[in-house]
Amino acid sequence: MEGQKIKVENNSILVPNNPIIPYIAGDGIGPEIMRAAMLVWNSAISRVYAGKRKVVWKEIYAGEKAIEIFGDPLPEETIEAIKSHVVSIKSPLTTPVGRGYRSLNVKLRQVLDLYACIRPVKWIKGVPAPVKHPELLDVVIFRENTEDVYAGIEWKKGSQEAKKVIDFLRDTFNLEIRGDSGLGLKPISEFATKRITRKAIQYALENGRKSVTIVHKGNIMKYTEGAFVEWAYEVALNEFEGKVVSERELNEPVSEKLIVKDRIADNMFQQILLEPSEYDIMLLPNLNGDYLSDAVAAQVGGIGLVPGANIGDFVALFEPTHGTAPQLAGKEIANPTSLILSGAMMFDYIGWKEVGSIIRKAVEKTIMDGKMTIDLARKKGVEPLKTTEFAEEIIKNI
Ligand code: NAD
Repeated sequence: MEGQKIKVENNSILVPNNPIIPYIAGDGIGPEIMRAAMLVWNSAISRVYAGKRKVVWKEIYAGEKAIEIFGDPLPEETIEAIKSHVVSIKSPLTTPVGRGYRSLNVKLRQVLDLYACIRPVKWIKGVPAPVKHPELLDVVIFRENTEDVYAGIEWKKGSQEAKKVIDFLRDTFNLEIRGDSGLGLKPISEFATKRITRKAIQYALENGRKSVTIVHKGNIMKYTEGAFVEWAYEVALNEFEGKVVSERELNEPVSEKLIVKDRIADNMFQQILLEPSEYDIMLLPNLNGDYLSDAVAAQVGGIGLVPGANIGDFVALFEPTHGTAPQLAGKEIANPTSLILSGAMMFDYIGWKEVGSIIRKAVEKTIMDGKMTIDLARKKGVEPLKTTEFAEEIIKNI
């Protein structure tokens, strides 16, 4: 089947019956989990649409494979392909620590302005989890993806730039910073805060969720994190008037309307363990969003299971939450669940909700039946399956 591009027209996404969806096979365990996930996705699509709809997968390159082919870990044509096809999916990519090129993942999010990192975190029945009641947690994290100390505006100790900034701060503001300091900037803008807040609230309303919690460290960092909370409340209460209510105005913790509340980040980390069912959509700046995503993922069994997406105004790049797990690479033992479920999220996004739903149900049934990869099987005390065998078991349940 010939493919056609997904398009954006009149502020919505137009999906043909045969969309071309680019994918990046990735580094480390990437290619193995991508192969397995694609078997599951294709099987779910043909089960639901019986040949009337089909994805035409198009490989695009980033990471080690791109260096081999193009001599560049992130070629311009890859960025162009993600932009022009609107919806893409990727496996993890290696980021060398403290040397070589900067994180390709961070770069992709920045150059494509994929400002919302969205991660739904929910327990899959049958998964061994470290808490007594993992079923009480059902949250969706909305993490701002382009700003904060994560923006990469940093100067090395002793560099000309660091010296210049230190001198400027002393001369202009009478602020004394030790000469042997490395420096980083933490920009948080009204524009970026407001657009991610809109996305989180729209999602909450469209999906019938109960609350949005703004998580911040505004008591200490008043003009960045503190402003984030103010701007987020402003959008919620002004732009969604009548549909949302601030927790501060409520006498009891329930309402017909969407409740907007805020929590200080350190408290949030204990609240989510102590009272998981009180939280629903979580809205955070970049760094705290990164930490909280992994912490809540651990609560339901680990990052190998949780899907993710980086979404801009329309362009969306889906990806698992874990990295390249180099110690597992080439052994066919990695767990493809996070990528498979990122695909389910992608099918929801393009409006193929039956496909997303059938994939989620099949994954859950497979794990409930005790069929799993070694990371889970070890904890559960069952015989482990190889990556592809696990995918084949899921397909039997589709
Ligand atoms: P990692 O997520 O690769 O591994 C952390 C732990 O989880 C390891 O013990 C690993 O074996 C396990 N694990 C991860 N995914 C698994 C899976 N699917 N099945 C079974 N076990 C799994 O994190 P790391 O070791 O910190 O990073 C390795 C590399 O991945 C680094 O280069 C890092 O920069 C990169 N990374 C990329 C992304 C991305 O592409 N978005 C995200 C995180 C890390």
